[in-house]
Amino acid sequence: TRRLLGRLRDVPAVTTDGLRISLQANMELPAEVGAVLESGAEGIGLLRSEFLYMNRDDVPSEDEQYRVLRDVVERMDGRTVTVRTFDAGGDKLAPALGCAIGPNPALGLRAIRLGLARQDLLEAQLAAILRAAAHGPVRILIPMVATVGELRATREVMNRVVRRLRAAQVPLPDPLPPLGAMIEIPGAALAADAISWHADFFSIGTNDLTQYTLAIDRSDEAVAHLFNPLHPAVLRLIQFTAQAAARARIPVCVCGEMAGDPRFSALLMGLGIRELSMTASNVPVIKARIRTTGMAAAAELAREVMELNDGGRIAQLVDRFNSAGR
Ligand code: PEP
Ligand code: MG
Repeated sequence: TRRLLGRLRDVPAVTTDGLRISLQANMELPAEVGAVLESGAEGIGLLRSEFLYMNRDDVPSEDEQYRVLRDVVERMDGRTVTVRTFDAGGDKLAPALGCAIGPNPALGLRAIRLGLARQDLLEAQLAAILRAAAHGPVRILIPMVATVGELRATREVMNRVVRRLRAAQVPLPDPLPPLGAMIEIPGAALAADAISWHADFFSIGTNDLTQYTLAIDRSDEAVAHLFNPLHPAVLRLIQFTAQAAARARIPVCVCGEMAGDPRFSALLMGLGIRELSMTASNVPVIKARIRTTGMAAAAELAREVMELNDGGRIAQLVDRFNSAGR
């Protein structure tokens, strides 16, 4: 299989009828860059930046963050790196950020809400990302966006940081990095058409989207068997988001666990997804799946799935599609 994977690394992810799908990698630690390059991923679709704040009592300075991010950008050697601003809170605790554990951490002051409440922290991180972006292509991704206002406020913070850096004659990329929104709150998915006018790209986080849509704690074993991204409600939110992105002509990626499971590849493509970001080790198997899938069949699968109203029936249809000759 090593030889097979080696061969797959250097061929594109294209469907049998020639449509190109962009496969990217999710990353939690800078040490994973080697594995990402090895996997054949086109870039980093999700750099979870929480590692910068974990296992320490203080907050990393702008300079420290810049050095770490610049190193990743340089080692990716011209491939796009999508850096997500800190998603602390909820299941991702970082004491250094002082995120208070409220009565319900999953619904509390976390991610971009925390960033906008603590703009000193958000400014330092945006400055570090913008400076790293002078060394290679970077996209900036905002976690847990619920409202257009949050995205607008984040862009204002970014513009303020840009003015400060320009005044200090710090080299910045031109144009500035695209600013995108994670779509992982059901309300954001339902407002994806409105949000699309303020975002340069979307990335659908199916882990949290499923958690919040079905009210299933993603880390609770007792309800793990109920966690189902094939629930029609989740699929409708994904489809609506993909359609809104298409109308606004912005790219839309899926970066939750769903993207790295070959069982879901054809369905996601049929729903209009052309970018998938996953754990690096899953890239070859997803690529192999895409290379044996035709878009017409994927679109037909999605059409049939969206007519069903029960996750169990949908799973049957998807499994039948996957086990047939495709
Ligand atoms: C998601 O929610 O699907 C996602 C990709 O982000 P995370 O798993 O880091 O919350
Ligand atoms: Mg998430």
